[in-house]
Amino acid sequence: MLMQYDYLVTGGAGFIGSHLCERLILEGKSVCVLDDLSTGHLENIERLLSSENFLFVEGSVLSADIVTECVHKCNTIIHLAAAVGVENVINRPVETIETNVSGTENVLRAARHNNSKVFIASTSEVYGKSWKVPFSEDGDIVLGATSRNRWSYACSKALDEFLALAYNHSYNLPVVICRFFNTVGPRQSGRYGMVLPRFINQALTGKPITVFGNGTQTRCFSLVNEVIDCVLKLLETPEAVGNVINIGSTEEITILELARRVREISSSNSEIVIVPYDEAYPAGFEDMQRRVPDVTKLKKMIGICPEADTETIIRLIIENGIPEGKQ
Ligand code: UDP
Repeated sequence: MLMQYDYLVTGGAGFIGSHLCERLILEGKSVCVLDDLSTGHLENIERLLSSENFLFVEGSVLSADIVTECVHKCNTIIHLAAAVGVENVINRPVETIETNVSGTENVLRAARHNNSKVFIASTSEVYGKSWKVPFSEDGDIVLGATSRNRWSYACSKALDEFLALAYNHSYNLPVVICRFFNTVGPRQSGRYGMVLPRFINQALTGKPITVFGNGTQTRCFSLVNEVIDCVLKLLETPEAVGNVINIGSTEEITILELARRVREISSSNSEIVIVPYDEAYPAGFEDMQRRVPDVTKLKKMIGICPEADTETIIRLIIENGIPEGKQ
């Protein structure tokens, strides 16, 4: 076991985290992962476990002691561990809020002690129901009432951002905060509600493709490897420190069109069914109608942004297969 690792990746056994770890190991870096396997899976990092440059620590970011121990072992911290997916947020509100808020607090506290560079993964959810599309980082965020717990996720991630910026402001801690838009790719599970793996799984198994609402809502999907390119470049960019930066594709597609393309590309006979929101989600759920990033800041800082088109992404996921038994 190494004494010191280049990177700590919290949530490294999750979908984005495991792709990131693979990349880092491929580049010859050493990586320590902290993951409690609540939504991450060991099989995501199975191939890395035998590498001498890789250490897996099973534990929660809610444990300040474990976080401190891991942070001490590593130079740069990439904090991805968070509550995942709409279903979890709705059904497990306490865990969602505590994981997102206290987990990030523990990471920032420990990082301050070491003065480590910290990457904080945030989300386009923080824009809430803003209509100012495309969403730019300095635009207002518009959240719903606290009685509607779906907003607790956005609010908890916004608080993470405030806290990270405050550590940067008050203690000069080098933090980089990114808002991920819908990130997809091989290995993503549909289990937590994510639309693309769900649609592909439905299409490949001949089940109805379930479009929630009327399907006119839009999203922009980016390929996980391209998102990782951006994360790693931003970590090397001094101007990114102390900043909040969108990472996403600007190709906007309606969910109904997404369903049609998945059906066509997979040559599936599945029917596309419209499921009203009140059947798809618990009462009071509000879906976001449009979600498009303004990537001006990202492009200015690193000269790239995720560009793979939706069709290419769908083909790539189909070729690689959706994780079994996790839908
Ligand atoms: N969605 C859908 N069918 C599904 C799952 C999701 O139509 O089986 C819709 C969902 O209502 C939303 C969009 O797809 O409008 C993206 O949902 P997801 O949970 O993947 O991401 P987010 O809402 O966080 O962008």
